[in-house]
Amino acid sequence: MPVFDPPIDDPVGPYRRLSHTQADLHRRCPKMWYQRYVQGLQGGSPPIFAMGHAVEGALNRVMRDSPVLVEKDALSEIFDSPLEEVDVSGTGNVVIRPSSAKDAPWPGLQLSPLAVADWPQTRKKMTEWARGRANIHFEREWKQGHEEWLENPNRIGDWDAFEAARKDEALEMVYAGIGFHLDEVEDCMAANGGPTFSNWRKGGNRTKWPAPDGFPYEHSSPHPAAQSAGEITLCEAWEVARPWFCDPDSGLFSLVAIHPDGWLQGEYDLVYRWAGEVRIHDVKASAGISDFSSGYPEQLAIYAYLWWVTHERQEMVSELEIWYLGVPVRKQIPLPNEKALIRLENRLKPLFEKLKQSEKYLESDYPGTPSPVRMFSPGGVPSDKEPLLGMARCNGCEYQLVCDASPQKETLPTGGMMRFSSSSDAQVKCTPIGDIQPFVTVRGMVREPNLVKQWPTFEKEFLEFYLDIGQREWLAVVIRQENPTLPFGFEHGAMIRIRNGIVAAGWKQNLGNHKRLDVTSGTIELAPNPSDDDVPFDKLIPESYNINADIFNFEHNDAKWAVRLVDATGSAAFQVWGGLAKHRSVLEGYQPERGDEVVIVGAKAKDQYGKIVLEGRVTKTFTTRLHPKPLS
Ligand code: SF4
Repeated sequence: MPVFDPPIDDPVGPYRRLSHTQADLHRRCPKMWYQRYVQGLQGGSPPIFAMGHAVEGALNRVMRDSPVLVEKDALSEIFDSPLEEVDVSGTGNVVIRPSSAKDAPWPGLQLSPLAVADWPQTRKKMTEWARGRANIHFEREWKQGHEEWLENPNRIGDWDAFEAARKDEALEMVYAGIGFHLDEVEDCMAANGGPTFSNWRKGGNRTKWPAPDGFPYEHSSPHPAAQSAGEITLCEAWEVARPWFCDPDSGLFSLVAIHPDGWLQGEYDLVYRWAGEVRIHDVKASAGISDFSSGYPEQLAIYAYLWWVTHERQEMVSELEIWYLGVPVRKQIPLPNEKALIRLENRLKPLFEKLKQSEKYLESDYPGTPSPVRMFSPGGVPSDKEPLLGMARCNGCEYQLVCDASPQKETLPTGGMMRFSSSSDAQVKCTPIGDIQPFVTVRGMVREPNLVKQWPTFEKEFLEFYLDIGQREWLAVVIRQENPTLPFGFEHGAMIRIRNGIVAAGWKQNLGNHKRLDVTSGTIELAPNPSDDDVPFDKLIPESYNINADIFNFEHNDAKWAVRLVDATGSAAFQVWGGLAKHRSVLEGYQPERGDEVVIVGAKAKDQYGKIVLEGRVTKTFTTRLHPKPLS
């Protein structure tokens, strides 16, 4: 069985596992990968992304429905899967997946079978039923896609214009997918249900990760469509042929297949297994004429590799296929044999090793050397046209305005004196992002080490101690690590050196205002002797920064309001924690947009797993303000 396992919360960012998307981005241009995964720059989200999800979501909902249980015009929600939150990795990172609870209200157990006379008996009738279901599911998915697009702060484009131009086409794509699936259903009928059909009729064949069909994972009663004897019926073939796909009610990336060694992951679209072999098909809501088609053979080969490696290297995929629903056409992809899979592994694993070493990224290792842009005819057929060479790919790259190698690069801010208010000539000195260097090395004597529950939830417990640096000079140190690596001999009275701490302004009832050293990715070593790296106490000053930069994208989540800033020297995240009221207070009524040039005043640098993030936290003692650059 494949290892379907949700991704583990990844504190060092999305590098720890390679996915085909990352590999493809790196293939298109190494610097694109660097911009996305090291600089954290995210492109915009146009309506066409929502279209892809709506097409796939509606198609999967149709395939999940049963023609013997669900009427053609029933509500979309009637066959929804019961869900549960799963913390598979034990990190607190919860994903939403179909419920595994014994008493979960699966719709297949609750709906009464329709009258047998109403079961579709011909392909024409089955097509009518499936298209009827598609019409209902598609409206739901389209509406949801629109709502999600509206809520996405990185949305770009015009939804209304897009909808007027493409919505009907998108529904046609769902119909095309239904047609392809019905071809499979008919093949299944012609093969009398395949090698396990008689067992299926008795309620057998249910795999650990069954195709989503409205019934629980563990279920051994015969399906309501199952006949006791005779030739296979069309409704039986619909049930038996159903491929595995991501349950459309499950959360994003909640059912990915993960390499046993954890370094690669991927989420299959359709896995057909009724014929006793494993065939993986990938659904594209497009005609396949773009350069993306050049990356699809490798994407499918990676799926074949993932299947093989998650099945003890014993089970080979027997078919790879792309469904270009916009044509519509099914394109066979060359099938890698075992040697080819090993070659793929030998190529991907070093790439993963290179990409996962977050602390060692050198921009020069990720050059701006785009691969040629290839042309395709509908259906992903390579065209006769010559590929576009050189920097042609930059024309369509979302980083073309900020990338050093791009011919279209714009002049970006570089710090310096900036006005920050349209109502005043007051100026602030801005630090270029690349010059923000808050990390310090300090040496001193440990006093009173202790584990202390942390404000405000008092759930986490961190090592705290005082570091005596001189006769009367000390820092309060907080080691913000779950299990810090401490040198042998670390104890009260030990002389130590802390590298990569950040000095902050602290306040405690028993200490009053004081200097605090926050250590998140930093290290501790014994230090009997001083070093030139040690920063003297009077130079340990809590820094705040003014920044002049462009907003490249937004990074909000439930807990924080955040933007990714770029200037000519680098990129950095700026975050405001504390909910709506806090970020409204920081923004003072300003609603930033992607591409705005802003001035930030008084931001604090924080260490987020070795990366600097800038925080604006509204307190009584200082205020951070984000201002659009005033018009001159
Ligand atoms: S702008 Fe060009 S060189 Fe830069 S990341 Fe994009 S494709 Fe690569």
